Amino acid sequence: MTKHLYRTLTWPEVRERAQQRAVIVIPVAAIEQHGHHLPIDVDNVLVEHVTEEAARRSEGLILTAPMIHYGFNEHNMGFPGTISIREYVFIDFCYDVAHSFTRQGFTRIVFVNGHGSNQMLCNLAARRINNTTSALAGAVAHWALAKEAVDRLRESEFPGGMAHACEFETAMYLHIKPELVDMSKAGDRETPSRQNRFVYDDLFGSGPVHMVNRWSRISESGVEGDPRLATPEKGKAFAECAIENLVEFCRLFRSYQTPPDRDFNYHP
Ligand SMILES: [Zn+2]
Repeated sequence: MTKHLYRTLTWPEVRERAQQRAVIVIPVAAIEQHGHHLPIDVDNVLVEHVTEEAARRSEGLILTAPMIHYGFNEHNMGFPGTISIREYVFIDFCYDVAHSFTRQGFTRIVFVNGHGSNQMLCNLAARRINNTTSALAGAVAHWALAKEAVDRLRESEFPGGMAHACEFETAMYLHIKPELVDMSKAGDRETPSRQNRFVYDDLFGSGPVHMVNRWSRISESGVEGDPRLATPEKGKAFAECAIENLVEFCRLFRSYQTPPDRDFNYHP
């Protein structure tokens, strides 16, 4: 079987896979509090499952890179367990990882992110690849790839019901590593970011005003949403949808044409 994890290749194999135009998937996550009922590695576990499983099923199309474990998390430092990387350091780090792939001849790179606050930074790192190399990079959150399944199964209120350590994340973890979830500590519903019709957060649509407060000011448990609505069956459906969509996107992405740069400026 074709190897699907980048870290298991030898260097001649890396060269061969670049030649075959494998799509590089870079999982990006965070170590942060996820309430009383989930471990601090939720973002790592979820994104690892989706990206590694997509690569395994892709028959050589996708190579999944080793994960970027830590994320941009200053807003959560009021809770124990959280590790935060400064925003500019994080963008540069993500860019350097992706850029290293382009230097080996890979031309299609996707950041698959598992932590909300990383998203805008992953977007910028991907854009910097497009602006500075001949390769193409994109960035997506794994929950955005699960949207069809969420639309079908979601019971949480909108907005705020699916945001953090919520129905979505708890269900996914229950599917992947149920032995580490303590549902007896799942607690009550909390929607701390829902301030008014301009300011709220949800994995599936945030308010028009982007304003992320320091989390310990507004949250008691660290949760945003209602984890009690989570089931392993929902988690399986979310995960399967994200995996299938990631494989399909990578297939489309590989076939993108990249016409040469043009310069329409007037040059006297
Ligand atoms: Zn999370």
